[in-house]
Amino acid sequence: MSNICLTGIQPTGKLHIGNYFGAMKPILDLSNQTEFDKILVFVANLHSLNSIKDGDTLRAYTQDIALDYLSLDLDLTKTSLFLQSDIRALTELACIFNNLVTVAYLERSHAYKDAVDNGKEANMGLFDYPVLMAADILLYQSNIVPVGQDQKQHIEIAQTIAKKFNSQYGQFFTIPKPYIQTNTAIVKGLDGRKMSKSYKNTIEIFEPADSIRAKVMKITTDSKAPNEPKDPDTCNIMAIYKLLASSEQIAEMESRYISGQISYKEAKEILAETILEFFQSMRTRRQELLQNPEYVAEILAKGAKEGNLIAETNIQQIRQLVGLK
Ligand code: ATP
Ligand code: MG
Repeated sequence: MSNICLTGIQPTGKLHIGNYFGAMKPILDLSNQTEFDKILVFVANLHSLNSIKDGDTLRAYTQDIALDYLSLDLDLTKTSLFLQSDIRALTELACIFNNLVTVAYLERSHAYKDAVDNGKEANMGLFDYPVLMAADILLYQSNIVPVGQDQKQHIEIAQTIAKKFNSQYGQFFTIPKPYIQTNTAIVKGLDGRKMSKSYKNTIEIFEPADSIRAKVMKITTDSKAPNEPKDPDTCNIMAIYKLLASSEQIAEMESRYISGQISYKEAKEILAETILEFFQSMRTRRQELLQNPEYVAEILAKGAKEGNLIAETNIQQIRQLVGLK
């Protein structure tokens, strides 16, 4: 039995701190802790079709996310980085899975309801997102899927589909497990809601330094005066700072909050510089990669070949099981 870790991010905009802690850092942490046979990392460009209806924009975002991932310095001997759309068997599997779930079941998806409530078009791609995601996960017999808390229900849907398939057609799919780091399960955005591209409340990892500084200044706080004691546990500035700073730095900031010795303005200035420092090496590496598009294309082609190798082996057996062959 092989041990496969899989993760993907939609190219719907620029990478933000929430994506880094929810979906990228866990891959780095996990790969340091566990011996995986393979780590599959994909750019979920098919998923993005439900919101991006312009070819050039989607291509640009796709390229952006591929560069973002590569700037993480992943171990490319073990990791395959590829585009979701390069795996031909995927949409076939999603088509098979569509027959194993009911409309009523998918209507319970929080992410779908949330997206529609926030003004997203309720198209079939959006509604069926969890089924395509189940195909993403199950096609490679993934064991572990690092995600943010917001994706937990989608992993449960993938588990349900795997079990349903197994009981209908015979034991085949591995039941995947989510990997959710509790301290970073939901990274807060500028307005205190979940940081999300859709909410336009993000701090992007690779945006210009001054733009990061300006965004941090917009973080919502209460209206306490500079010398008033403040609550570090409910403050949106602190929530992000805690992810990036050392325990000594956090303790110092907390004590200044409690004793009323720091203004929100100063806390924001400290946070902005901490963000820039934390992501400095990734930011530099990404600049270098930007100069080398051939290298990026080469990595994606190699990744697609490796992904397809697993996908093709599995889809052959799936076709046999369901009677398509
Ligand atoms: P969209 O608004 O288009 O859904 P998003 O900003 O929520 O975009 P996704 O592409 O949905 O980002 O998420 C990619 C990955 O990042 C997922 O694994 C998700 O769980 C994780 N993630 C996204 N936002 C956060 C967050 N605020 N905190 C922790 N993890 C997050
Ligand atoms: Mg999301």
